[in-house]
Amino acid sequence: MSEALAFPGEKIASIEEFEAGDNTFDDGDMVRASTVGEKNLDKTTRIASIKHPKMLSIPKVGDIIIGSVAAVMSSMIAVSIDYINGKPTTSKVECVCATRHIRKKNVALLNDIVTLKILNHLNGTIHAAMDEPSLGVLFTKCRKCGGSVVQMRDAIKCTECSWIDERKLSTNYGNSEFIHLRE
Ligand SMILES: [Zn+2]
Repeated sequence: MSEALAFPGEKIASIEEFEAGDNTFDDGDMVRASTVGEKNLDKTTRIASIKHPKMLSIPKVGDIIIGSVAAVMSSMIAVSIDYINGKPTTSKVECVCATRHIRKKNVALLNDIVTLKILNHLNGTIHAAMDEPSLGVLFTKCRKCGGSVVQMRDAIKCTECSWIDERKLSTNYGNSEFIHLRE
């Protein structure tokens, strides 16, 4: 399944061959994914879409989640959960993760894909952490131009505009197999 998994912004087809379907958008040149999910290129209808995983569940304490950053605040981020322990969910449950103590210029940006560990449920809010080496950002883009970035030790560098930035990267950053790690 991992080779068919797309991330937000990822090119999934050329607009000359496919039209943008569910959970995708057309940037004038390519059809790109607007959410995490499975790629579906229908050769009959010529529609490229992303199948968002369906299953309803709430993460438990100690679970490892993967989600997309829904909001970035000064001391925390809110994350919309897509996977719990490697299993897809569409319940769109959000958790929050404190970031104030993490000494990085930009811990995570809006729409970044992050992996977190669930700490507790307090007053209806699910709290998670990204302090362990394997936790943190799995997928990010350049803050200046939206280009792809490559890891350089603790920093990231844009392959298009060369902007160097920081994130709290997971040790699984750049590893497309991470979905299977907790199965
Ligand atoms: Zn850039």
